[in-house]
Amino acid sequence: MREAFLPFSRPSITADDIAAVSDVLRSGWITTGPRTASFESEFCTRVGCRGAVSLASATAGMHLLMKALDIGARDEVITPSMTWVSTPNLIVLAGATPVFVDIDRDTLMVSPAQIEAAMTDRTRLIVPVHFAGAAVDMRPIRQLAADKSVFLAEDAAHAMGTSYMDEPVGREGTAIFSFHPIKNITTGEGGMFTSDDRFVLDRIRRLKFHGIGVDAFDRRGQGRSPQAEVLEPGFKYNMPDMLAALGSSQLARLPQMNKKRATLAALYLERLAEIDEILPLKVPAYNMAHSWHLFIVRLDIEKARLSRDEFMEELKNRNIGTGLHFRAVHLQQYYVQAMGIPRGTLPNTEWNSDRICSLPLFPDMTEDDVVDVVDAIKDVLKR
Ligand SMILES: *Cc1c(COP(=O)(O)O)cnc(C)c1O
Repeated sequence: MREAFLPFSRPSITADDIAAVSDVLRSGWITTGPRTASFESEFCTRVGCRGAVSLASATAGMHLLMKALDIGARDEVITPSMTWVSTPNLIVLAGATPVFVDIDRDTLMVSPAQIEAAMTDRTRLIVPVHFAGAAVDMRPIRQLAADKSVFLAEDAAHAMGTSYMDEPVGREGTAIFSFHPIKNITTGEGGMFTSDDRFVLDRIRRLKFHGIGVDAFDRRGQGRSPQAEVLEPGFKYNMPDMLAALGSSQLARLPQMNKKRATLAALYLERLAEIDEILPLKVPAYNMAHSWHLFIVRLDIEKARLSRDEFMEELKNRNIGTGLHFRAVHLQQYYVQAMGIPRGTLPNTEWNSDRICSLPLFPDMTEDDVVDVVDAIKDVLKR
């Protein structure tokens, strides 16, 4: 058995990252300012987006989007139930109704047909989720949204470095990225809102800082403009320079870090192929490039005669950490009580919710670590 515990994720922090943050700490200006502006422009260069707004989190970005689109009572928002809870929570908090659609059993992503079937004349917004680093098949979904004049925003929290039809996720349309510590690049906490819609970008930029219509930092004045006034009530969701400096430093290493993730994922796929009870996700056949945010497998609980929770516990006993991305939202207490969607309504979501497990995957992991994980899995299953 492994001596040291292997976490399922760990941020990759270099001496350069630490130096970049230290520079800001010594500079005399640590909140939103020049570093945040350069992080946004570097991000646009990498992703090819028209505009990017840095934020306190991806969740903040989703909150601002609900506000920017004036989503409220009687509105419906289509999203999968296999997602992080932030999106459904914000839909509910806006007073609107989440309409959960089922996913493909083997990619965990929504299909255009399922979205189309869920659309009504109350649908205002569609939020597909790029899952685990793979890309949703966006082309038909974009067509659907355009035909019905419904806003489309991609949850790109897993898609930093993912591309679809040879274009980086975020280049076209509206997308929200996360820099939480487990994501492919981190700022500790943080997010980026990208859009090719000028109106939405301007509204998000205004709403993220009290609705005063200016960024926190004025270059000429070398400080915050004291004359700024409220154009509409806004929030306090800006990203500080201290964190943006970490983001810039991480962004420069994104290709290298994602390459390492891909190498480790390929080794997992090769080594796990011989274990019948373990079913990795399928990589979509259409043109896309994977960023391997997560390495998710499904446990064949019938064959293994072991629940997924027991499997995770047994791996922990062998010093292997795992994650769960995600428990179906519609099966969680609040949603069961508030919406009461019967089990069986979203069969592929429910099937995966009982079987998925994220194995350790992060850039500083070694190939020996992958072998340790696979050995531990074999040991658990041979009982
Ligand atoms: C991490 C994550 C989020 C939320 O990101 P935060 O920056 O933590 O708010 C949203 N959606 C998905 C799919 C995620 O994995």
